[in-house]
Amino acid sequence: MVSIKDYYIAIDIGATYLRIALGSSKGVFKVKLKERTSRSNNEYAIAYQIIDLIRNNLPRELIDKVKAIGIGSIGPLDIKRGVIVNPCNLPVRKAIIKEPLVSEFGIPVYMVNDCVAGVYGEWVYGAGRGLRNLVYVTFSTGIGGGVIVDGHLLIGKDGNAHEIGHITVDYEGRLTCGCGGLGHWEAYTSGINIPRYVKYLIETKYKRVIVESKLYKYYAENAITSEILYSLAREGDRLALRIIDEIGKINAAGLASVINVYDPELITLGGSIILKNPPNLTLTPILKHIKAYVLNRMPKITITPLGEDIVLYGALALAINPPSYLRDLQ
Ligand SMILES: [Zn+2]
Repeated sequence: MVSIKDYYIAIDIGATYLRIALGSSKGVFKVKLKERTSRSNNEYAIAYQIIDLIRNNLPRELIDKVKAIGIGSIGPLDIKRGVIVNPCNLPVRKAIIKEPLVSEFGIPVYMVNDCVAGVYGEWVYGAGRGLRNLVYVTFSTGIGGGVIVDGHLLIGKDGNAHEIGHITVDYEGRLTCGCGGLGHWEAYTSGINIPRYVKYLIETKYKRVIVESKLYKYYAENAITSEILYSLAREGDRLALRIIDEIGKINAAGLASVINVYDPELITLGGSIILKNPPNLTLTPILKHIKAYVLNRMPKITITPLGEDIVLYGALALAINPPSYLRDLQ
């Protein structure tokens, strides 16, 4: 039984930051902690970093009231063992998370992919309350998704269901993904890959079209970043705006596949690219192009109201009320 005196720990393991929050059974965060994620190649380093952060920052009497821990983590995961396996953006080959936390605190630990946690947070605390079919998509270093269909949180055999960033959006495979696949969505429009796509577009499509654009200067110096692209677009740079439109087209194609496969009522968007830039440069270009690719009835598409805390909210909701099939993994 959940009591109002109970506390829960929510953890967001990202490639860059490790975030930990102490939350109440009512879904209110009492304490939030943030540190750079350990880049040690020791397979226990992240688990020990979590234990140290909790022990060094939370009073013992509060830790003793914690009933469960929820984790949203970068993948790929082996969800049964609570292990991160060969993550793309961390030096460690295998990070053992769950078992050291269970033996340190003696309480249940529920661990899922960060976007799976994200969609659960949206469902319990965000824009998805009361719905039965929703998708959360993050646009940050990579592109990822979490999906709820018919009131059921999708997990997969190892916890890696719906790696939507690796949907093929370009069968000619003009760009190669970090995973080695050709034409995958995140090879074009994830934060880390936008500069490559801008370069590709300048070299193939926009070489001599808009001479006065400042973006050419950054291109010539090999200095394009996604921040520069969006800030030039904000200033009204014509080439930057055309490229923003091309990015919108790719994102529309990717999201259309998500809609055609999962038939959601709502899609919420998050991640640094979405949260740090104005909607007229992120959401509007998607909405302009998406109807051309969609078969199913259009869902509502909005930006998440939970911002960068969405994974923490999901981890908290999982700790308080995990789906029975996650409870069975304990
Ligand atoms: Zn890929």
